[in-house]
Amino acid sequence: MFGSIRWRIGAAFLVLVLVCMGGLSVYLLHTVRDNNLDGLRTQLASQAQLVSDASEPYFDQGYEESLDALAERLGNEAGTRITIIAADGTVLGDSEKDPEAMESHASRPEVVQALSEGVGSSIRYSATLGCDMLYVAVPVMVGGKVAGVARISLSLAEINESLGQINTAIIAGTAIAAVVAILVALWVSRATTEPLKQLTQMSRRMAYGELDQKIQVSSSGEVGELARAFNQMSARLGEMVGLLTSERDKMAAIVSTMDSSVIIVDGESRVNMVNRAAEALFRLSKEGSQGHTFIEVVRDHELDDVLQKCLRTGKQQEGLVEVESGKQFLRVVATPLEQGALVLLHDLTRLRRLETVRRDFIVNISHELRTPITSLKILTETLQDGAVDDSVVARDFLDRINAEADRLAQMVSELGELSRIESGEVSLKMEAVDVGEVMERAADRLMAQVERGGLTLDVNVPVGLPEVLADKERIEQVLVNLLHNATKFTPRGGRISLSAGTEADDILVSVADTGVGIPAEDLPRIFERFYKVDKARTGGGTGLGLAIARHVVEAHGGRIWAEEGIEGKGSTFTFTLPIAPVP
Ligand code: ADP
Repeated sequence: MFGSIRWRIGAAFLVLVLVCMGGLSVYLLHTVRDNNLDGLRTQLASQAQLVSDASEPYFDQGYEESLDALAERLGNEAGTRITIIAADGTVLGDSEKDPEAMESHASRPEVVQALSEGVGSSIRYSATLGCDMLYVAVPVMVGGKVAGVARISLSLAEINESLGQINTAIIAGTAIAAVVAILVALWVSRATTEPLKQLTQMSRRMAYGELDQKIQVSSSGEVGELARAFNQMSARLGEMVGLLTSERDKMAAIVSTMDSSVIIVDGESRVNMVNRAAEALFRLSKEGSQGHTFIEVVRDHELDDVLQKCLRTGKQQEGLVEVESGKQFLRVVATPLEQGALVLLHDLTRLRRLETVRRDFIVNISHELRTPITSLKILTETLQDGAVDDSVVARDFLDRINAEADRLAQMVSELGELSRIESGEVSLKMEAVDVGEVMERAADRLMAQVERGGLTLDVNVPVGLPEVLADKERIEQVLVNLLHNATKFTPRGGRISLSAGTEADDILVSVADTGVGIPAEDLPRIFERFYKVDKARTGGGTGLGLAIARHVVEAHGGRIWAEEGIEGKGSTFTFTLPIAPVP
């Protein structure tokens, strides 16, 4: 309370008023009293001189005993007390007291002073009269010699009374001035502190997050200046907070939609934030992870080790971690934050898988190339070793060399085709296609092979089958591949059936045979490159036909799958194509 501006201003005003009024009153009282006393002294000195003059003849002529009567008479006339004293201090006459009863006045200060300086005065409290008295004395000269002293005394009660009145007036004035000073102080302090109070309130509100505070500036002085500065500060602060909020929102949006997983933990490894990718990666619910420790959330010690090392050293840590026993490969980067750390996880599972596929592909392709090349080598060496001279054998070997070369050429062209389709280089010429026509054409192309294999092939296309949206060349190629496989894997006397139908927005096309069939465990894999059920009975295939078929069908937005064949025998390959929109 004593620290408040209001109190300080009030106290300052009060002290100022009291000091000024106090000083003034002391000065005034002294001056008035001194002036009054000086006047009285002069007046009394001239009266004393008159008494001295009047008593001179008495001393001169030796009538000292009559001096008491003189003193009484003159005292009555002047209305003051008159004392006539002999040079030795003996009181000879007094207007109010009996001189006989009075002691020697030789040592009275006014008498001593009068005798030495010509005029003497002193103020003393008179016990007899009960008040301060002013005494003025002058010497009585007879023939150039001091014969005695004439003294006039006057009560100072009157002067003291008038000084008392002045004092009372000053005290009353001081009290009024003090009250006025307090009122003025209150007014000044209120005018000064009101905007400050507002400032304080608004600062508090700002501290609680209400940043749009504005003070109505009415004063132009320092407080007004302060209020203006406050308004500028709050506006700037609002802008900055807005900017930071939008930056934070942007960052949050980026983090939450990032493909990489992000987990932020505090210094005690407690999870503060988990983005969507991390929720999906560790199968978490939003609330489920909050407040849990990192290890509880990721359930992997290797990941936790990377984080702990980062928290311990305060340095960025990286690692490659295999979680769920090899199902997932993660690259983890833990970056220290002011308090805690940010853990970034990149899922490398797909990359790893692609890497494996690439490696397998190279292994497969070298294996696939080795077989025909070894055959070619053996055939040519046998020819070089003399078989070339036997024209029958030579012709047979050359035919086989030709067949191997054809196989190699087919494999190279199929591989090229597959990689072109996979990389999206092949653009499909999409148009409305009568799928029945394409089926007939593919069947025609394979007819010679069907007949050679002692098989029957029937084509069933329902009347009024809608057209499909497709590239007819590519779809014919798919059908040729499927039919070719069916002829290869169906023994003599078998049946191949090519049929079509509708299902929802798609057309279903299937090639079924009564051949050797495909074991259930191989069904999901036969569309992979180079995958062959039984390497010994591929019929010279490359293992790429179905991979190409799958890519072509999927590029059309369709699906392809294999299942059991007709009457529980052989296999059926079915694919879908989207029905063309009616023009
Ligand atoms: P390939 O050139 O070896 O025929 P594909 O990719 O066309 O290559 O076929 C892959 C494998 O799928 C074949 O080697 C074969 O084991 C199996 N397969 C394909 N079609 C049939 C079918 N109609 N009947 C039985 N097995 C088949």
